[in-house]
Amino acid sequence: MKEFIKSFPKVELHTHLNGCIREETLNKWHKNKEVTKYIDSFMSPETNSKEAMENCFKSFDLIYEATTTLERIKQLTKEVLEDYDNENCIILEIRTSPRKLEGHSILDYYNSVIESFKEYLSSRNKKTPFYPYLLFSINRSKLEIGKETIDVANELRKNNNFVKGIELSGNPYRGDINKIIELMNYAKSINIPFTMHIAEKIDDDEMIKLIECKPLRMGHGIYVNEKGVELMNKYNIDCEICLTSNIVSRSIDKCDNHPIASNKKYKGKLFFCCDDKGLFRTCLTNELFIAINNYYKDLDESKQKNIIKKLCLDGINASFLEDNIKKELIEYVESYKL
Ligand code: 5GP
Repeated sequence: MKEFIKSFPKVELHTHLNGCIREETLNKWHKNKEVTKYIDSFMSPETNSKEAMENCFKSFDLIYEATTTLERIKQLTKEVLEDYDNENCIILEIRTSPRKLEGHSILDYYNSVIESFKEYLSSRNKKTPFYPYLLFSINRSKLEIGKETIDVANELRKNNNFVKGIELSGNPYRGDINKIIELMNYAKSINIPFTMHIAEKIDDDEMIKLIECKPLRMGHGIYVNEKGVELMNKYNIDCEICLTSNIVSRSIDKCDNHPIASNKKYKGKLFFCCDDKGLFRTCLTNELFIAINNYYKDLDESKQKNIIKKLCLDGINASFLEDNIKKELIEYVESYKL
């Protein structure tokens, strides 16, 4: 089954650029040559959910100590595209939060990522379809540059095929809820598609307020309660599920306990994604394999293969790509032998 999943076309709808850094690249660029071992030491299995989450964010700060120049951001981007392309991903939605590196602007940061996309695609030899694109992240710890980020995304998407929307992420224990709602309403007012990390901590009031922003999709949804599920059904909000990430960050203890993926009342679509493939040492093939072995384990192999195909088709439809590209990709997947 794993070989089948690896060779079958796949869609990634939830992955953070810096969190995808290869272990060898992180070790090469970081001053501390044992940085990945150091990260392992504090991502220890003994911590509780809040501490484990804080430790993930400490890890991102260590990654940022390595990805310090625009040249490195370009190289990081190229490696992430290569890794997903090598496992037959056909749509790669990458999100990344704004950074001002070496005295450069947010625009320069995003332009470096885009330049790397262009270079990668122009030198690519594979004949199979591959559509990478970007979402600009509103970071909960940097809400003060949220509006600027949305404005840059809006400007760039007018003449650039790689910028498709925005998303909310960052440490769930940071950020003023009213400011977040204001930013999401602003995004809505200029018709820019968006997805949001919601319910990564226990806070029913915040969870409901964020769902009421009506994102097209939700990331994680770990602490969504019954009322939240009702609202997700009502507003047709699909869910990006990141199983390895949730287990490492102690959000769930096992896949059977994922409150959305294993919730019979939830009517939306599920997308199994990597979140941070470098930090969590996973890949899209692995995430789908875990999903099949947990949520579809009672089906025979041919039905499991059909589930993989359905997940791919659902992902194409839920992507922020144009309708003509979706049509091309659906035809490609439909023609693929199971
Ligand atoms: P970047 O946006 O710098 O390319 O990727 C790393 C950033 O993504 C982190 O600093 C964090 O803001 C965000 N991120 C990565 N994984 C998660 C996650 O599981 N939950 C949340 N809320 N944010 C995340």
